Amino acid sequence: MSMLLEVSGVSVSFDGFKAINNLSINFAEAELRAIIGPNGAGKTTFMDIVTGKTKPDEGRVIWGEKNISLLGMSESQIAMEGIGRKFQKPTVFEDQTVRQNLAMALKTPRGPFAVLMHKKTATNAARIEAIADEIGLLDQLMRRAGELSHGQKQWLEIGMLLAQDPRLLLVDEPAAGMTVEEREKTTDILRRAAETRAVVVVEHDMAFVRRLECKVTVLHEGSVLAEGSLDHVTSDQTVIDVYLGR
Ligand code: ADP
Repeated sequence: MSMLLEVSGVSVSFDGFKAINNLSINFAEAELRAIIGPNGAGKTTFMDIVTGKTKPDEGRVIWGEKNISLLGMSESQIAMEGIGRKFQKPTVFEDQTVRQNLAMALKTPRGPFAVLMHKKTATNAARIEAIADEIGLLDQLMRRAGELSHGQKQWLEIGMLLAQDPRLLLVDEPAAGMTVEEREKTTDILRRAAETRAVVVVEHDMAFVRRLECKVTVLHEGSVLAEGSLDHVTSDQTVIDVYLGR
């Protein structure tokens, strides 16, 4: 089966230190995947490579037919290709309503939202409502984003990214700072989002990862240490040793 994204033999060094070391990892279309690993494992650097923020020293990043790493594509060019990224902190427009935030995201070309701030013009109301429903904010459309809870802001930003119709969405620690209920709802949102595009979640919270019920990749020292179901990887002795710091 051809993969949506193939990372093969990628290495990146910072001042001689190999943050990513001969990393190979593949993602299929419409796959939900969790990436876990101790601090310093290379999770952030991995996302930086896929989104073009960091260029690999070696290896290939193949997106469809394109070798993103060789083409020297910029971050915004890669975003335009359909790779979205959700950073840990929510970045929504607090003075705008939920509806305005989603409308703006729908009208903005893929990539960062900051550039274009459209005023209220009629847009695709049905699409806005469909996304709001997908992220559980249908009854919040007229609220100012600034009044939302932390979890709701995170969902709104996920909705803004979904509005841009990515084929791959990278999500960095979505559960951080959320209540238990918000976490549960977030797993539902991500699982549903992954029905129609690939979603890769970097997460520390094991209970959250368990609820995602997806394939898990464990990173350690910049490479894949184990891959499979959460039960499989957490019963792997090398993974246990790494987490216990042995
Ligand atoms: P994680 O997200 O899994 O905690 P990171 O990708 O942030 O891991 O970091 C992997 C390793 O690379 C760490 O040891 C970190 O200190 C190092 N590193 C990351 N970015 C840089 C940088 N810009 N300069 C120097 N070292 C870095």
